[in-house]
This record gives sequence, structure tokens and C-alpha cells, in this order.
Amino acid sequence: MNELLHDLMKLQALEFGEIKEKNAEATIAELRGKIPPQILGHYDRLVAKGKKGVAAVRNQVCTGCHMRVPIGVVATLMHDTDIQLCENCGRYLYLSDTTGIKAPEETAKRKPARKARTPKSSLQMVSTPSPAMPLAINEFRPGKLHPGLRPIPG
Ligand SMILES: [Zn+2]
Repeated sequence: MNELLHDLMKLQALEFGEIKEKNAEATIAELRGKIPPQILGHYDRLVAKGKKGVAAVRNQVCTGCHMRVPIGVVATLMHDTDIQLCENCGRYLYLSDTTGIKAPEETAKRKPARKARTPKSSLQMVSTPSPAMPLAINEFRPGKLHPGLRPIPG
């Protein structure tokens, strides 16, 4: 794993009391000395908001905000080339052990060319419901005659 990311995770685990060490304070100070101030500053801002600064990616989803992480970001994490931020919540991301995503080289099995095409049933037209009765029907009142029209006396 990326050393910087590892330091961040350890720092968070210590600060959140997830791991106990005898000299936690000293370790925290040491880690804070190692992590570049820019990254530490971002981490601290997240923590100040009550968030964790580092979140795992599981099944290509950020566990901090449950939003999908772009595959390019996951790929970068897999190759340990750089640290990555979640585009949505801004947390530093690390790959959880249970991602289930393997490096592309390992999953390069070619799929069988194509499945036999099943004939698609023709799309049915979705008929929009039309009003059952014409609206004009209410205007036709056979019982009433126009006041001007009187029956002609016999
Ligand atoms: Zn996120």
C-alpha cells in the first residue's frame, strides 16, 4: 500500500481510538510529521467536520458517502501509484481487502464471443390513455331549449 495512505489510515485509527498504542500521542506526532502539510490539512478539515478523513472503497463504492467511485480511481488505488480523493465527499480513499476487484491482468479471460441471440419480442406500443368520454358531452343538454326558441303555437 501507498506509504502516505498507510500513514493517514494509521493516524486516523489512532485519533479515532480504533487502535490502541502505548505511545499513541508520540506515534500521532510522528505520523503528522511525515504526512505532507497539504494532505494533513485536508484530512484535518474533514475530521473537524466530524467526518473521517479516510474511507475504504468497497465494491467500487466509497464507504464514506456510498457513492460510486470511478473505475479509474479504483485502478489508481490498485496500482498504488497515487493517493485518491473521493469526488463526492472528499475523503482519502483506500482499497478495502474485500473489494473483490482483481487487477485487470488476472481477469483478462475472454468471454465466449456471443450468446445466441434470443428473438426479442416486438416492442408493444404503449397506448396513452385517452379520456373515455369526449369532454364536449357535458355541454349537450337535450332537456333545455334556448330561451329564445319557443315552441310554435299550433
Ligand atoms: Zn465518498
